[in-house]
Amino acid sequence: MNGGLQSTNKRKISTVWDRFVKHRGENGEVWATCKYCKKTYRAESKRGTSNLHKHLKKMFAKQTGRSRAANFG
Ligand SMILES: [Zn+2]
Repeated sequence: MNGGLQSTNKRKISTVWDRFVKHRGENGEVWATCKYCKKTYRAESKRGTSNLHKHLKKMFAKQTGRSRAANFG
């Protein structure tokens, strides 16, 4: 009698770093590059990651309906 309710519930984007690559610039600044469209954003921790989240949200919003993530990779 194992209920199947657990482990199917992982829809939330908890971190942007699954989808962005973090790297340093010449002057020590922090950049985040989107793995899918290669767009880069500044990503110092003091700036937060809200703009990265915004970008992902926009990207994912484009492909509602169709199977998720089919175009990625
Ligand atoms: Zn992107």
